Amino acid sequence: MNYPIEAIRNDFPILTQQVHGKPLVYFDNGATTHKPRQVVEAMEEVAFRYNSNIHRGVHTLSNLCTEAFENARQTVASFIGAHNSHEVIFTRGTTESINLVAYSFGETFLQSGDEVIISGMEHHSNIVPWQLLQKRKGVVLKVIPVLDNGQLDMEVFRSLISRRTRLVSVTHVSNVLGTINPIEEIIEIAHQHNIAVLIDGAQAVQHLAVDVKKLDCDFYALSGHKLYGPTGIGVLYGKEKWLNQMVPYQGGGEMIQTVTFEETTFNELPYKFEAGTPDFTGAIGLAAAVKYLQNIGLQKIHAYEDELFNYAFEKLQALGNITFYGTAHIRGSLISFLLNGIHPFDAGTLLDKMGIAVRTGHHCAQPLMERFKIPGTIRASFGLYNTTSEVDALVNGLVKVRQLFG
Ligand code: PMP
Repeated sequence: MNYPIEAIRNDFPILTQQVHGKPLVYFDNGATTHKPRQVVEAMEEVAFRYNSNIHRGVHTLSNLCTEAFENARQTVASFIGAHNSHEVIFTRGTTESINLVAYSFGETFLQSGDEVIISGMEHHSNIVPWQLLQKRKGVVLKVIPVLDNGQLDMEVFRSLISRRTRLVSVTHVSNVLGTINPIEEIIEIAHQHNIAVLIDGAQAVQHLAVDVKKLDCDFYALSGHKLYGPTGIGVLYGKEKWLNQMVPYQGGGEMIQTVTFEETTFNELPYKFEAGTPDFTGAIGLAAAVKYLQNIGLQKIHAYEDELFNYAFEKLQALGNITFYGTAHIRGSLISFLLNGIHPFDAGTLLDKMGIAVRTGHHCAQPLMERFKIPGTIRASFGLYNTTSEVDALVNGLVKVRQLFG
């Protein structure tokens, strides 16, 4: 495949270092990805050239900064295929985006006894906000079960829908199983019943081309730091028709039109949901990350990562005495497994001594661990800069872990 892996790796200085005297092999991209020079340079340019608070100033730097911030919104909007850039709200990340919907959609549209459907493979960020809403408003939470192969039980999903269902909130790609959920089908079924759908895209947008217009989802959440961008910045895409009606999430500067002690009127979209000074430096960094991905091409990245995934899966399978979690036909980007008889934490600690970074534990999905009756897994999650020789290093590392544990 014509994939510029050398040039890509050169853009990520962090990858060239040694850890415990061994070349770093970074397979923890599901937790966070590294930042290319282009992202850091974009943020450096803000700090060194035009840092200034946005929207309020008449002076040159403020105008430059405002323009760069609003251009960043446009870049993100076209990346995810949003109709309008004012449907793109900058947040701190996926977690805040979901909390925003749980609060504002919940306060505006949900009554006691109304139902929200999530799934058994959700990250805690797509569970707890709904439980808080449950406590606040008496909303009922229903859960789509996960099949043994790591797919959602779509039969049960259909049967969970009732007259009282108002919202479905599911992950696009599972951060534990790698399953790519049939969100097109979920959205279609939900919409047949006039139910809104939120998609947690934290593990999707860096691997798959996403078009919210085609998907027709009502909300889509993502995090900058999993997309080769900065931490502390993320996005909530929401359809204008919902966002316009929803009550604000937080109060403060920027989200208002007029304030008196008697009454406040709110600003238009997207500002109504961006109280306080937003992380404009982060947003500009995120746009640089998006452009970086667009330059390589998401189709190309997806094809490259798919090859890497297949290579890794075959090699790990060949090790034998290994249990995989999530074997759905449609999956990718990460592999969750256990070496039979060895605790994932022990394996992860030994791999670290060999310079190999994997994640071990419950991956913020405790109900899913409970479902599979395991304390956690070893998760190797791939990024656009990983290579087959790094996969070889992981496999050799696992052989050594086994030898050490007899
Ligand atoms: N959802 C999924 C599927 C995730 O993988 C993560 C991060 N691990 C989150 C939500 C939360 O993302 P953040 O911490 O960036 O808000």
